[in-house]
Amino acid sequence: MTQTQSTKTATPTAIYSLTIAPACVLRGRSAIAQAGEAIARFGKRPLIVGGSNSLAVAQPYLQPILKQQQLQSAETAYGKDCSERSLETLREAVQTHQADFIIGVGGGKALDAAKLVAHQCKIPIVTIPTSAATCAAWTALSNIYSEQGAFQYDVTLARCPDLLILDYGLIQTAPQRTLVAGIGDAIAKWYEASVSSGHSEQTLIISAVQQARILRDILFQKSAAALKEPGSETWQEVTDAAVLLAGVIGGIGGAQCRTVAAHAVHNGLTHLLASHGTLHGEKVAYGILVQLRLEEMLQNNQLAATARQQLLKFYAEIGLPQTLDNLGLGDITITELQRAADIACNPNSDIHRLPFKVVPQQLMAAMVSTTAPVGELKIKN
Ligand SMILES: [Zn+2]
Repeated sequence: MTQTQSTKTATPTAIYSLTIAPACVLRGRSAIAQAGEAIARFGKRPLIVGGSNSLAVAQPYLQPILKQQQLQSAETAYGKDCSERSLETLREAVQTHQADFIIGVGGGKALDAAKLVAHQCKIPIVTIPTSAATCAAWTALSNIYSEQGAFQYDVTLARCPDLLILDYGLIQTAPQRTLVAGIGDAIAKWYEASVSSGHSEQTLIISAVQQARILRDILFQKSAAALKEPGSETWQEVTDAAVLLAGVIGGIGGAQCRTVAAHAVHNGLTHLLASHGTLHGEKVAYGILVQLRLEEMLQNNQLAATARQQLLKFYAEIGLPQTLDNLGLGDITITELQRAADIACNPNSDIHRLPFKVVPQQLMAAMVSTTAPVGELKIKN
């Protein structure tokens, strides 16, 4: 082979950037009270970004250490949603306060807004989740919504947060329902990762899929006991599973291991006003059942049918929604259902990571039959 030929046949190595984990995770009861020095390392003038509720809840935890470290902090509520307009207001607040780092406090949307404004202003970010409803405190990803709460797109961030503080005392003040939702969002990792990447030969992806299986098993085994005894050891383990391990899987697996049909269904549902009373993880949990139903109907997949029955039992035990009716969407019109299905099937949707083609009519059929007995309502390809 001549020199020229070998140059021609060589394929360039693709550069693949990994954002696996926060640089540091501090975790424990009263973790915030002991995090003063770790926080003060990032600067002198933090801007605290959160929901108005979470800012109030977190204040007694944060104020003593801000004072102790002599930090000049300012607070800003992120507004109605993690939207482009909220981000604009937050960037202005960073400028006005001359903030040198951000402390994000709250649930998924508050943390997404805080992470994104830090990314845009190129300053460090500390995340303090106030509930276990999502793994947003961990990930290098922010979801953008419209002012009306409809999902628009996600943004990949340059890195995971510089510091994550998981304070069990603070998380325990959140309504129980948020942990239930967090369990729904976390358990989706297995169903989405295994269907999109279960046959991958890539070392890190194989590892992410296996960890998603472990995460599912931990949740099956410990969720009911955790919810009966908030604050207990088991409750802390389940909180770790929802906030931390779910984040690890997204980090190691990258975009391929993140979302498939369960999240696509969630995204479609956010475009219906009536869906706004339910939490992200609740819609995702329902979305898993829809995804399994699609695998049953379009592939005649018996394993999916069994998995769906297992999940229905689990959902009944811990209070996750099984149907549109459980999500408060029992009265939507066919037009609205079609709209959600159309959005979930748009050409850029993650639903197309399924190993078969899905059209809105098939998705609608799956969406209304999540509790169907096994073996019924099969549609041939
Ligand atoms: Zn999610």
